[in-house]
Amino acid sequence: MSSVSDKGLVVGFYENSEELTKEAQELNTKTNGHILKSIQLSDTKGKLGDTLVLYDITPEVPRLAVVGLGKKSDVPSGDYEKFENVRRVIGSGVKSLKAKGASEITIDSTLGDVRSISEGAHLSKFKFDFKTKKADATPEKNVNIALSDASLEASPEWSTGKVYADAQNFARMLMETPANLMTPSIFVSTVQDKFKDLVASGKVEIVVRDEAWVLEQKMGMFYGVAKGSDEPLKFLEIHYKGAADATKPPVVYVGKGVTFDSGGISIKPSAGMGLMRGDMGGAATTVSAIYGAASVGLPLNMIVLTPLCENMPSGKATKPGDVVYAMNGKSVEVDNTDAEGRLILGDALVYAHTFNPTTIVDVATLTGAIDVALGQHFAGAFAATDCLWKQIEQSGNTAGERMWRMPLAQEYRKQMDSKYADIVNAGGRSGGSCSAAMFLKEFVTVDRWAHLDIAGVMYSNEDGAYLKRGMTGKPVRTLIELAREISKQ
Ligand SMILES: [Zn+2]
Repeated sequence: MSSVSDKGLVVGFYENSEELTKEAQELNTKTNGHILKSIQLSDTKGKLGDTLVLYDITPEVPRLAVVGLGKKSDVPSGDYEKFENVRRVIGSGVKSLKAKGASEITIDSTLGDVRSISEGAHLSKFKFDFKTKKADATPEKNVNIALSDASLEASPEWSTGKVYADAQNFARMLMETPANLMTPSIFVSTVQDKFKDLVASGKVEIVVRDEAWVLEQKMGMFYGVAKGSDEPLKFLEIHYKGAADATKPPVVYVGKGVTFDSGGISIKPSAGMGLMRGDMGGAATTVSAIYGAASVGLPLNMIVLTPLCENMPSGKATKPGDVVYAMNGKSVEVDNTDAEGRLILGDALVYAHTFNPTTIVDVATLTGAIDVALGQHFAGAFAATDCLWKQIEQSGNTAGERMWRMPLAQEYRKQMDSKYADIVNAGGRSGGSCSAAMFLKEFVTVDRWAHLDIAGVMYSNEDGAYLKRGMTGKPVRTLIELAREISKQ
């Protein structure tokens, strides 16, 4: 039950001016100028995201977060800034009110684009920990978010933003959960639970494949990675038929699902290895993307394929130098067992073609090299066509998850030459992300294909305005948005 003491309101003001957003202006009038006076007395100048919390404004507003909106004359230079600035402002406001104990938070609807308000607010709600003492835990209270103009809560923009945020929060939870609690089997059952209503409504079908099926399909690369672990592998398929014509060729997303990557026999250094619980980020984000696409009812047919396994060293594990056979018959020398993502993806990509897709996009925390190249702020996109790249770039800008186009060039293929097999799985340090993309290309025949390397954006070292330090769940919203773009074709 909510009471006055749970309440908080987020409003805004522009840098170096007396201009307030609508709710702030009304409160300022009601309180004989108290809001503006407080702003002037504080050291807050109104730079984007600056936040001032005031108390006991009126009986209805016990807590007020006044958030800086920057200069009104600074017009955002493009879609990225336009929407991202709103998410950041909302994130700052919600976060500061939450920290002061508010759990019923209302947002001034005039702060910006409604979908971006909704995304920023609902992404800020995410909490995750395993603390057993209440005092140490992330605030337990569930935060409810409302708009000052309640009629806008019935708008598609508000609900779409909520679905996008919910989908990303689901991916964050999947990625953040430790590997002992997120095995391939648990991943599948968690997804089945999340999709219960969509499956019951007949919109979505989930198919779970096991090891026998993988062997039958001759997915020798996937099997070669999975067999080193005692945890059984899973191959998860999610089918969504949203197009008016159910036989219309689908878009297929393929997500890397290594629920823990130790490196296998080519074992990784121990520092930071715990982060390898997030090496199923491709699977988490693609699964969450189809959840979002189906929930908002995008008019397209879509399939998500995720090979799920652990990469572990054991007496059964693949050894450096071993040769395995891919689903398309190619022989592959496994020189480095830590370059396992491309192996499981290669087989999934071959399988993806059996659905006669218009477009295939694979998503993977694939290489450390992409983190070296782009860091945590851009994901690397290797797109086989200019048209698909444009769609990816635009989707990333709208979603606030920027993409950078990387080269998909034949020159990098040479690094993948093997002495005795058709191809080797590791091409050395130089241009490591680019040679990895060329490896994947061996398993693609469709024209419209893109590979997104999300290893750099998987984890954030610092708190952002609306995303906390930790697994980011990026680029879920870009992937939903891309499906929306493609559905317009
Ligand atoms: Zn690896």
